[in-house]
Amino acid sequence: MRISFAQLKRHPGRTLPLKLNRSLPPMEVLGMEVEFSGPAEVDGEMGLNETVLTVSGQIRADLVLSCGRCLEKYHLPLEVSFVERFVPAAHASDDEDLVECRVYREDEVDLEPVVIENIILALPMQYLCSLDCRGICPDCGVNLNNQECHCLREEPDARFSVLSKLLPRNN
Ligand SMILES: [Zn+2]
Ligand SMILES: [Zn+2]
Repeated sequence: MRISFAQLKRHPGRTLPLKLNRSLPPMEVLGMEVEFSGPAEVDGEMGLNETVLTVSGQIRADLVLSCGRCLEKYHLPLEVSFVERFVPAAHASDDEDLVECRVYREDEVDLEPVVIENIILALPMQYLCSLDCRGICPDCGVNLNNQECHCLREEPDARFSVLSKLLPRNN
């Protein structure tokens, strides 16, 4: 996802529209597989102020994740706004103001790390195909979203009968 901003150097003070899309390989985030169902898209603009390049816009991607409860794959469309500043590699550490900037070399920046980092930051804490996903039965392994099983229905009774044995009878 390399972009050249040589054009901006010839027209200082202008902003240029930016439209990119790129297929990204699957990645692992905190031990969970994250796949992309199609290319990630960037829609935004870039502008050069002296040597500082500012790139901003929206990142759009459709992710395929595995639900933490039922283990089925599901789609999560993401849209993230971002603003990133880039400075020439040689100046990166000079100015405290620019500490959080990324660096560029020549007249090119690579937006792929920006896209990946912003997607990772936007991932949910827990992957769930739906908030009321019923998960899989721990006893028979059936996906309870698709099918009922008998294990769950018997469980409360079993627990109750154990309890009733422990409780002192009061007659
Ligand atoms: Zn689920
Ligand atoms: Zn079951």
